[in-house]
Amino acid sequence: MSFRDLNLNTPLYNAIDDLGFTEPTPIQRESFNVVSSGKDVVGIAQTGTGKTFAYMMPILKNLPYSTQENPRVLVLVPTRELVVQVVDEVEKLAKYTNVRVLGVYGGTNINTQKRQVAEGIDILVATPGRLYDLAVSRVLQLKSIQKLVIDEVDIMLDLGFRHQLLNIFDILPERRQNIMFSATMTHYVDDLITNFFVNPTRVSIAVSGTPLENIAQTRYLAPNFYTKVNLLNHILSDSETYNKVLIFVAFKRMADRLFEQLEESYYGESCVIHSNKTQNYRLRSIEQFRNGENRILIATDVMARGLDIENISHVINFDTPEFPENYMHRIGRTGRAKRQGQSLVFSTDNENEFIEGIESLMQMTIPVTPMPEDVTISTELLEEERPQIKERYNPIKKRQDEDAPGPAFHEKKEKNQKVNLGGSYQRTIKQKYKKPKTRGDKNYNRKKRK
Ligand code: AMP
Repeated sequence: MSFRDLNLNTPLYNAIDDLGFTEPTPIQRESFNVVSSGKDVVGIAQTGTGKTFAYMMPILKNLPYSTQENPRVLVLVPTRELVVQVVDEVEKLAKYTNVRVLGVYGGTNINTQKRQVAEGIDILVATPGRLYDLAVSRVLQLKSIQKLVIDEVDIMLDLGFRHQLLNIFDILPERRQNIMFSATMTHYVDDLITNFFVNPTRVSIAVSGTPLENIAQTRYLAPNFYTKVNLLNHILSDSETYNKVLIFVAFKRMADRLFEQLEESYYGESCVIHSNKTQNYRLRSIEQFRNGENRILIATDVMARGLDIENISHVINFDTPEFPENYMHRIGRTGRAKRQGQSLVFSTDNENEFIEGIESLMQMTIPVTPMPEDVTISTELLEEERPQIKERYNPIKKRQDEDAPGPAFHEKKEKNQKVNLGGSYQRTIKQKYKKPKTRGDKNYNRKKRK
């Protein structure tokens, strides 16, 4: 397939020719028609796969020329570096068009940005906090937004931007196309899709980038956390074979808990990264793992993103990832550069259904290795492993790992995040009941009909 098959227009072809791109990447091929259709889209793709163009080509192709001042496309990204990067990409692609692009992010003078906004823009690329500040200051009008792109949404949610996102949804026009890109699936992402997307089409590309044949996979059946720890201790005792081991867990708390356990048996040999650790701590951990000072790194799915570490001898899935895409990402960290990699997955009975999802995605069965004889099967259970008294679904109750992110990313305390948006009664009632409190609430009904 070539770019000509996408039926773009001359200004876009010229820009692509200037860039020297010869053919669309897989995510660009897969996303084009879906994004063009105007339906909500969820794309699973990592940075580096060409995903910025995957959403920007169809958006730019379908964006009519306009002189109006208010932006029609909003792209939200988690960090200022990404704002700069995305703006840069859009500018390259829009080089021969009249599209006006602006990037805004926190930590810089808001007044300069207000002036730039007032000059008129078509595409706005922003971090959530600064976008919101500009919107409440009323300089930025969001009423013309037709397309909302949320890029790297898993990082955004892992860094604790959920509140800001919800606030932004609240002030965007209801009729809009939502386009979201994420490298991994997490509960937060899944929740967001369920609650705010209308019947989205999913686009996903072969995520690991590593041919599966290069990775020898095996599975161990272990009934609980402490048995998994015993098994891990047994396996890691062969330090010659297991010389560079990346261990994945789903939750920050589990990462810390496992780290403590490994410190008891392999003191000083492991390090840990997750989003509650400071940037410096994480960088130090990665460096120690990379240079071999520590042979074991424990990581959560989101934090292991972009880690480019050579020669990982083994990936150990200490838990079985709920979303099959995450498994593919995890095991893709070993077996790089045509080397044979090794992947182990530990699964409890409760995790069997996740294994089924993974096996059906890969269209293969992961062979089971019997539990080594000298591994003790523990009967001790973590609190969350004990039989639970079933509670009816309670949306207010937080999931086990929904603790606030750590100080490194804690922009404001929750109580200070509240912003006076005016009209508080109506909003509170709307949020609480999601429908008019009384049937005769004319104002509400009038608004709905609009
Ligand atoms: P992204 O995944 O959007 O961060 O893109 C990664 C890099 O790939 C960027 O430097 C893009 O300019 C580049 N890129 C995007 N599309 C293509 C393509 N079709 N062919 C070659 N490179 C591309």
